[in-house]
Amino acid sequence: MDSLVHNQDLRRHNSFGFAACAANFMRVETLEQLQGAVAQARHNSWPVLVLGGGSNLVLREQIPGLVIQMAIGGRRVESVSEDKVRVTLGAGEIWHQSLEWMLEQGYYGLENLALIPGTVGAAPIQNIGAYGVELEQRFDSLLALDTDSGDLRRFNRDDCRFGYRDSCFKSHEPGRYVILEVSFALSLIPNLVLRYQALADELKARGIEQPQPSDVFDVVCAIRQQKLPDPAELGNAGSFFKNPLVSADRYRDLLQQFPNLVAYPADDAYKLAAGWLIEQCGWKGRCIGAVGVYSRQALVLVNQGSGTATELMLLAGQVVDSVQLRFGVVLEMEPRLYPA
Ligand code: FAD
Ligand code: NAP
Repeated sequence: MDSLVHNQDLRRHNSFGFAACAANFMRVETLEQLQGAVAQARHNSWPVLVLGGGSNLVLREQIPGLVIQMAIGGRRVESVSEDKVRVTLGAGEIWHQSLEWMLEQGYYGLENLALIPGTVGAAPIQNIGAYGVELEQRFDSLLALDTDSGDLRRFNRDDCRFGYRDSCFKSHEPGRYVILEVSFALSLIPNLVLRYQALADELKARGIEQPQPSDVFDVVCAIRQQKLPDPAELGNAGSFFKNPLVSADRYRDLLQQFPNLVAYPADDAYKLAAGWLIEQCGWKGRCIGAVGVYSRQALVLVNQGSGTATELMLLAGQVVDSVQLRFGVVLEMEPRLYPA
């Protein structure tokens, strides 16, 4: 395979900007190239990491085996009926650019997920979500390569076992399936989700009374640019911890002890705002060496340049311990640590 690269520096391939070295690296733009790469890895007994934009990964310094960079592109409309449209995107398409294209075509439903970094193929992995919309709500199906059997398999929504920032690809069999393309069920009629206060506030501040999907898209981009660090300037992977879910009883206990607790009902449980828990423990803006907790959003851990995954994981461990000590709640990491 002539496009196999040895000792590839991955600093520019992960949004934390960690200096990680892939023993072997290959960029794939077609299914045939992917199948060739998977066969080569199997032949050499190499572990495989599929890489999209690297915005939900914590990479250690040495990455053994093979890193496959997913670059299979493509956009097509599968069907249009009355007010619905089904659209399929290649796994290597950039998520945000795909949303811009959908908006231009008048295909609506994903505007709340604007400016999430990364690729289309990674989006189902943790069922990406923001501002009240999760991928699963607009998901139709996906096509994946089973690296165990070499077969192609189509997954419908139930097969994916989506959960809160979770799917079967993340929790049950990480690494087994390589996602090739994702199909979305979108609407030709705007149906806006505006229940997050920040969205409503920003639309009001702009004097927009009857928002269109493009307004929501613009407002989401603007809020994110104000609140979140740009990985090009300050390494990060967005939210480092998931918001923990607790039972209604546990929520009431906590509320008695901490009347300012920030939480939201989630089905028959409650979702605690992990950023608030971390901030209460005094972590916001604190650094340990080159890694730290972002000064404007305590849920985001950052690398100021020369940090390493080991340093970051030590910091994350201290944050988890202090939240557990104070609130009795265990925070779970959201990005994938590789190798685990
Ligand atoms: P990567 O980091 O490259 O990979 C993530 C995981 O998916 C890895 O396990 C990888 O092996 C696997 N993977 C990637 N591609 C494939 C494929 N084709 N087939 C099989 N497995 C694959 N997330 C949210 O949910 N909501 C947000 O609002 C959000 N905001 C963010 C803001 C910032 C500033 C940053 C840095 C991150 C944010 N994230 C958010 C996290 C991240 O952007 C998403 O999880 C995104 O979907 C990751 O895409 P990626 O291509 O970078 O994946
Ligand atoms: P925020 O608006 O300050 O809110 C804090 C937390 O409260 C969020 O995590 C959100 O949960 C929850 N929340 C707020 N309003 C809610 C409502 N009306 N109903 C239910 N839950 C509500 O959060 P933020 O940090 O600025 O992020 C804004 C959005 O972008 C959130 O949806 C967040 O998930 C998403 N985001 C995700 C990442 C990531 O890497 N995963 C990074 C940046 C931003 P949810 O997280 O469940 O929405």
